[in-house]
Amino acid sequence: MSVWRQWGLEPIINGSGAVTRLGGAPMPAEVLEAYVQAAAESVPLDQVQGLASRVLAEVTGAEAGLVTTGAAASLTLGTAAFLAGLNLARIEQLPFTAGFPHEFLVAREQRNGYDHAVRAAGARLVEVGFNEIVAGAGVRRTELWEYEAAIGPNTAGILVVHDPHARPPLAEVIGLAHARGLPVLVDAAGELPPRENLRRLIALGADLVAFSGGKALCGPQGTGLLIGKREWIASAALQMLDLDDHFELWEPPADLIDRNRLRGLPRHGIGRGFKVSKEQVLALLTALRRFVALDAPTEQRQRLDLLHQLQSLLDGLPGERRLQIPGDTEGMPLLHVGTGPRAALEVCRALRKGSPPIYLGHGLLDQGILVVNPLHLQAAHLPILARRLREEIQAA
Ligand SMILES: *Cc1c(COP(=O)(O)O)cnc(C)c1O
Repeated sequence: MSVWRQWGLEPIINGSGAVTRLGGAPMPAEVLEAYVQAAAESVPLDQVQGLASRVLAEVTGAEAGLVTTGAAASLTLGTAAFLAGLNLARIEQLPFTAGFPHEFLVAREQRNGYDHAVRAAGARLVEVGFNEIVAGAGVRRTELWEYEAAIGPNTAGILVVHDPHARPPLAEVIGLAHARGLPVLVDAAGELPPRENLRRLIALGADLVAFSGGKALCGPQGTGLLIGKREWIASAALQMLDLDDHFELWEPPADLIDRNRLRGLPRHGIGRGFKVSKEQVLALLTALRRFVALDAPTEQRQRLDLLHQLQSLLDGLPGERRLQIPGDTEGMPLLHVGTGPRAALEVCRALRKGSPPIYLGHGLLDQGILVVNPLHLQAAHLPILARRLREEIQAA
């Protein structure tokens, strides 16, 4: 019997993909195994993060990396790194930034709820450009000169929320930033797959990149990655790790933190609440290696297969079903299920309230469509999902 049922909670069928609110990705067996075994022994956390840094460097081509408690924590730690570097007084002062540069430029069209994580470290966001296309008031996206015009003595960095269609292209923003001596932090939390993003954003010169560990990577839900230049990763690590030691005794892994660059040991920093456990780190590294080794076209074929099966189980039902096949081998195939005469919002609500509760993608409800994302669906879910869709779509 499900351990959740034993405790009185009913597990859901997640047909909406890597959604944080729904508990993230179920962990594959080998990831769980690493988690359980790693939890059974003690190892110093700074050494665990040193190991993580070496693995992340090998997998991503970055100079260094850190396992965090999620991409949002990576954004806070990355921001703290740009604000304070290895300056002990600034590390102590955060999130208060009086007396040093603390403005982060961000395109107005990229503002989103996750930028709270950047502001949490003490940064002040300075918006550039407009959102004229969404406003229906113009045809242009953000332009490079708008970033350039906003750079001033208080600018500490640039925040970019990654999207392959972002304008100006990431490479141009990085080029400008580096010409003006500024670092770039990229929020790429949900930008895996495609796997190439693990290397590509770093290769473009991004100083720090944040990824989620609990989305498509299928690591522990409460994990993330921060990868990038060694100096920034060292600062982020210093501001996260527990530092209750004597400086004379403290020997962090040299490839994570160069002790010689410090004139003392800071107290616990702004990221101390983002403690990552050793078993979370090892499970995420295991998940990362698995993700990189999986054959993307095979994986995509299996997902398409699930959707085809579901499609035939729904034959004859009112409303249209349309398979959305991505143009590239790592894109996610989706099934759009029209709810016919019944309002999609009603069907969506009824599915959530049924037994077992079923959660489908709800981004197209206003078009009368529920979206099935196969990322976390298993073959055993399909008959139940099909039966419940029939019951609810046909309900008068
Ligand atoms: C999911 C997401 C985050 C947060 O990631 P966590 O790993 O849940 O902390 C941040 N930014 C974007 C754009 C996201 O999609």
